[in-house]
Amino acid sequence: MNVTKIRKDFPVLNREVNGRPLVYFDNAATSQTPTQVINTIVDYYENYNANIHRGVHALSQEATDAYEGARQKIQKHFNAAHPYEVIFTSGTTHAINIISSGYAELLKEGDELIVSALEHHSNIVPWQMLCQKTGALLKVIPMNEDGVLIMDAYDELLSDRTKLVFVNHVSNALGTVNPIEEIINKAHAVGAEVLIDGAQASPHIKADVQALNVDYYVTSAHKICGPTGIGVLYGKEAALNRLPPYQGGGEMIAEVTFEKTTYADLPHKFEAGTPNIAGGIAFGAALDYVNAIGMENIAKYEAELLTYATLALKQIPGLKVYGVAPEKTAVISFNVEGIHPYDIGSILDKLGIAVRTGHHCAQPIMDFYKIPGTVRASFSFYNTFQEIDAMVDAVKKAVQMLQ
Ligand SMILES: *Cc1c(COP(=O)(O)O)cnc(C)c1O
Repeated sequence: MNVTKIRKDFPVLNREVNGRPLVYFDNAATSQTPTQVINTIVDYYENYNANIHRGVHALSQEATDAYEGARQKIQKHFNAAHPYEVIFTSGTTHAINIISSGYAELLKEGDELIVSALEHHSNIVPWQMLCQKTGALLKVIPMNEDGVLIMDAYDELLSDRTKLVFVNHVSNALGTVNPIEEIINKAHAVGAEVLIDGAQASPHIKADVQALNVDYYVTSAHKICGPTGIGVLYGKEAALNRLPPYQGGGEMIAEVTFEKTTYADLPHKFEAGTPNIAGGIAFGAALDYVNAIGMENIAKYEAELLTYATLALKQIPGLKVYGVAPEKTAVISFNVEGIHPYDIGSILDKLGIAVRTGHHCAQPIMDFYKIPGTVRASFSFYNTFQEIDAMVDAVKKAVQMLQ
């Protein structure tokens, strides 16, 4: 992997912040966008902006072909059996809400849902709303000090009352890679479906939805070099057919009269209204971009960055890393004794270094550790060892100033 060459694809990496070269370590919140992806958006608006699936005219057909072509790229990337099992959404949050809303019609009082202690709020709150509506119960797989799910406890939660299990593939707050094969197989053994939130895994791990035998897999383009406002809901054909539509409107119907409306086939049943056409096309381009580098190459390089940064940060007296799972993606959550994470983050920003501070939309994890939040540095394949050196120096400087 030629990181120097790769960095040239990302215009934003050339800018300065507070008079220093930008060091962008907030990749778990959103990734940066390469020129190749930006160009697909410009090209769409400059050359063939039109509504899809509707017109017989040339522009509409070009737009439809590009959008459906992107759907096929996503299908191939995740190895879905059919393109119509790939539903475009505005992102992970939207995809989860499509499933949780549909499940309102599939659940009865006393049914059970299982979530993990490691979830992003977007995979907690929609389910709490669903439980309030239906009388279903939400059970939680606990975690240990290392930030690893306690699988014995999962075994005990599973029963024939379990209808759906939803966990993330990778924790955005700690980087833990969860044992999703085991989670999926055990859920299926009691007749439950499984939804995997892949938002944090997608930049690092290529999921094969057929090999996983997962019922639903959701992710956002903006975590994997694509634009914001576009994501995907993969669902097995049978699962998606069982799920009622989320929104009513244009595009999602077969026939409409004032007496009765019949719904369109997949994927259109879940794609009411004019979608984010340019975003969908750019999502396809983002997958082309990372696949040209190779997901295995990306994972290997990021693992080296993670090891290097973890060893360097641990030399700082009083620094504690949260989340030390044996299998982790390139995320380091840490605090320094006696210093608020926000104060470290502010000083790093003054030095041009972008990290995230706070609860990372995962307050239950912070409550588990009894902390208000952490400083989170998250790496991508366009980051360098020199940038990590700059961050480690900046943290040392911050500690000197604040302690
Ligand atoms: C980013 C993220 C989400 C939310 O994604 P949106 O694009 O904001 O909908 C959900 N889960 C995880 C694990 C994430 O990292």
